[in-house]
Amino acid sequence: MNPELDYHCAALICIHVFERKRPVLLVCRGADGDWGLYCGSAHQDSGDDYRVVGIGHVLDDDPTLREVLNLEPGWEAERSGLGQPWRRGLVPDEDEATY
Ligand SMILES: [Zn+2]
Repeated sequence: MNPELDYHCAALICIHVFERKRPVLLVCRGADGDWGLYCGSAHQDSGDDYRVVGIGHVLDDDPTLREVLNLEPGWEAERSGLGQPWRRGLVPDEDEATY
């Protein structure tokens, strides 16, 4: 494991991951270094859809997440399903997103 990463490091996860209904398909590292682990589905933009846990608990459930624990701040990694390869990219800047 990344030696800088504490087992109890706080991570924001969506309710689906929290309830173990869906696997983590999207890992985001904020510019400030915060971790976000999401199922990749749409979520309400309210606190009800998110929980904060120690990242180690999520890793225990899904050890394949360890592959992306070397993400730099401001980067994200996504995959299409459990066991699929991770694709990394810069976290989109919402202010400059074009549709
Ligand atoms: Zn979710």
